[in-house]
Amino acid sequence: MDRLTAEIRACRICRDNPAGRPLAHEPRPVLVASKTAGMLIAGQAPGTKVHATGIPFNDASGDRLRDWLGVSRDEFYDPHCFAIVPMGFCFPGQDAKGGDLPPRRECAPAWRARLLALMPQIELVLTIGLYAQAWHLGAARSASLTATVEDWRRHFAAPGRPKVLALPHPSWRNIGWIKRHPWFEMELLPFLKAEIRHRLKEG
Ligand code: SF4
Repeated sequence: MDRLTAEIRACRICRDNPAGRPLAHEPRPVLVASKTAGMLIAGQAPGTKVHATGIPFNDASGDRLRDWLGVSRDEFYDPHCFAIVPMGFCFPGQDAKGGDLPPRRECAPAWRARLLALMPQIELVLTIGLYAQAWHLGAARSASLTATVEDWRRHFAAPGRPKVLALPHPSWRNIGWIKRHPWFEMELLPFLKAEIRHRLKEG
């Protein structure tokens, strides 16, 4: 694990051997790998503040996610509780409108399967957004991001491990989505909070 995370931290694929346009800045992979955490947060990619600080979810999205999970910052950043492995480890840059670009497509094929193979203890994966849904649910996911999140009971009840709970991205951009889908706050979040609390107590 230490060797692989050191390799990842030194990775320059998106600068030196990109699949398309090279990354416009120096790579700074941000992740928390863990051999003991029972829960994995499968995020999207760092934003500007996370890139600047090197701390995952160290921004308003992270505050909202911690609120959804019902955990403190100490619990969230405890590597015995949560591994944090986004679909792209480096900030991908922004589009012309100032929105974050999608995770770099080079990243997951290069690293994800190898890294997750070293974390067989993970019991619960929280997928954040479409890219993580696609990786962790594959063909089992529903027709859209919203449909997959709405189908959370069925996906969670699917046999096998780890369990997967699909979430939208906690960005302010999704506040409208949350308002339009009141079941998310009324049904999914209470279940999520109880599940996390139970697993933290057990762990
Ligand atoms: S995004 Fe992933 S593949 Fe690209 S440079 Fe960063 S660590 Fe390497």
